[in-house]
Amino acid sequence: MTDTTTDPQERAIELRKRLTDYARLYYLDEPTIADADYDDLMRELRSIEEQHPDLVTPDSPTQTVGAGVTESTFAAVEHLKPLFSLDNADSISNLESWLARMGRQLGEPPEGFSCELKIDGLAVVLVYENGRLLRGATRGDGVTGEDITANLRTIGDIPRVLDSDDPPSLLEVRGEVYMSYAAFEELNERQAAEGKRLFANARNAAAGSVRMKDGSVTATRKLGIWVYQAGIIENGPELATHIETMEYLGSLGFVINPASEHLKDLEAVEEYVTRAEKERHSQPYQTDGVVIKVDDLELQDRLGFTSRAPRWAIAYKFPPEERTTTLRDIMINIGRTGAATPFAVLEPVFVGGANVSMATLHNQDQVALKDVRIGDEVIVRRAGDVIPEVVGPVVAGRTGDEKVWSMPTECPFCGNPIVRVDGEAVARCTGGYECPSRLREWLFHFASRGGLDIEHLGYKTIDLLLEQDLISDPSDIFSFDTDELLEVEGWGATSVGNLRDAIEEAKKRPVPRLLTALGIRHVGGTVARRLIRHFGGLPALLRATTEKIAEVEGIGGVIADEVREWADDLQNRELVDKLAAAGVRMTEDVDETVGELLAGVTLVVTGTLDGFDRDTAKTAIEERGGKATGSVSGSTTALVAGASPGGAKVRKAEELGVAQIDEEMFVRLLAEGPSALGTLLPPPNP
Ligand code: NAD
Repeated sequence: MTDTTTDPQERAIELRKRLTDYARLYYLDEPTIADADYDDLMRELRSIEEQHPDLVTPDSPTQTVGAGVTESTFAAVEHLKPLFSLDNADSISNLESWLARMGRQLGEPPEGFSCELKIDGLAVVLVYENGRLLRGATRGDGVTGEDITANLRTIGDIPRVLDSDDPPSLLEVRGEVYMSYAAFEELNERQAAEGKRLFANARNAAAGSVRMKDGSVTATRKLGIWVYQAGIIENGPELATHIETMEYLGSLGFVINPASEHLKDLEAVEEYVTRAEKERHSQPYQTDGVVIKVDDLELQDRLGFTSRAPRWAIAYKFPPEERTTTLRDIMINIGRTGAATPFAVLEPVFVGGANVSMATLHNQDQVALKDVRIGDEVIVRRAGDVIPEVVGPVVAGRTGDEKVWSMPTECPFCGNPIVRVDGEAVARCTGGYECPSRLREWLFHFASRGGLDIEHLGYKTIDLLLEQDLISDPSDIFSFDTDELLEVEGWGATSVGNLRDAIEEAKKRPVPRLLTALGIRHVGGTVARRLIRHFGGLPALLRATTEKIAEVEGIGGVIADEVREWADDLQNRELVDKLAAAGVRMTEDVDETVGELLAGVTLVVTGTLDGFDRDTAKTAIEERGGKATGSVSGSTTALVAGASPGGAKVRKAEELGVAQIDEEMFVRLLAEGPSALGTLLPPPNP
């Protein structure tokens, strides 16, 4: 993606051709380059054209909207009024320049803006005659779109008949058809089960689904629409602002995004943009920015349009989370359960705020389904705290030299066979804990926050202890001679003392944490707490029969079998004996009153709390028999809101009338149960 020529004319021609080709495939839902890379090339072309205005051609992608229509699938339909793209801003100073530009045109900068989430889906236009849906189309090139009326009729959010006794004689509205993340994941799971192509992201899934040849398939795709503008209203009410228009459209039965806000000036807009970016990943659907519109319709008229976009609106784009790069190699990692996970070794690329040189490929089937090959150009995504992943290959960029990958038959760490049991999604190393990779991951898990939470014992120290032959299983952590570390460069009395204290501290952790740390398959925090609450300690659990274990509430036969199998292994029994001998806590005094204090109570935690992180808050709730969930719903008892709470959660709680409590109230709730907060909370669910 580097500049291959220095002659501006040649470069402009090359960029125009490439951008046009990319856009053609993108609008066929087969993108061959990450959006951010496309945007970079567009920016480069725009800057050449600004410096050399004689090089601008009317068909340049900088001057046009979208792409044409595929008449082989859908009939072409001429729009009643042209549809536009949006100019972009990627910094607050871009927004200031936009305001200044409008100020120059109007004599003074406008005030009063509508801030809306920029939904990442497919733009459509809907036409109603006398209150009845007549036609729906894609944006196409802005003048002509594709007639997808039959498909759009299958979307429940699109009214077939307007909710009004006196509808406008003609109404044309624009909106974005989208797919929620949940629907997208469900769809991709279905596609994978049927061995079909996976969609790269929710935008492509939405765009692909709404443009299906067979509308009955569209109907199964759980699409939604947010309507964001009226193009034409004939014989309707007089409307002076965009916000009034949206309210009117809402009254007719259209779905308007609840995150939209009316804001007075740029300062408030900046706050909105910052907040929206921070909360980006708590929205249940894909957004790629904020659209800011001048609210006053008369000012909009005066500002007008360029050849491709309104002057009265701008899209503030969030930093890109997808980039295109080269896949250098595919390697595998062996996890603590022996699972072999393929990962991509990448040409380093800056994406989602970090340099990424490795990304997960999930499992063998995903590599095959996505058809990712060594040497491919691939699209890489890094969104929020989620580990980077390879979205898919750029098939059109292949040279033929790419290599198809297959799972190695031998473990690269221990040489034992890698086997995939029929019906399982993952292949596993059969080397047990003699596999150095598996052992390393197990030790890391044992000491991690989800396990015994031993501070100062991360990968680096574990690698050192293994290299020095100081430990060979988790029980050795409690018995090795820490003074040996004093010989190692970089370790002094203080760091060794800190590690020793942390190890000593870890011996006293609640038993469910120890059980989680042992890494038995399917036994995570919640299961471990249930088991230990029932059996009172590890020895009793490990003596119990499969039937007795399966009787515990919420524990099924699969977990019971895993626990029994683990306990029957001599090596594991010896490990538990060694841990007990080292003084690690094995039994819990079960306090029945604490155990059931929050029974029937469901809490959602948001924002930053002083005394808890997300894990410890969850543990505290679950240890008392309560439920901790990630999203607010009708069955939520209360939202625990710390500093900078998630706006979407707070709004949802307000909408549903769910009580909101602060940290102090949360602490009281944990200590005394719901009665401590009087009548603030609804009675617990049975
Ligand atoms: P755009 O997506 O940047 O902005 C315009 C669109 O935003 C509108 O048409 C509308 O569909 C949408 N939108 C969402 N919420 C809205 C709201 N609240 N109000 C108004 N509009 C809203 O511009 P574009 O011209 O549709 O497409 C350009 C985008 O497509 C760029 O992000 C570009 O990266 C991507 N693209 C990618 C490729 C590729 O090959 N990867 C090719 C072409 C275009």
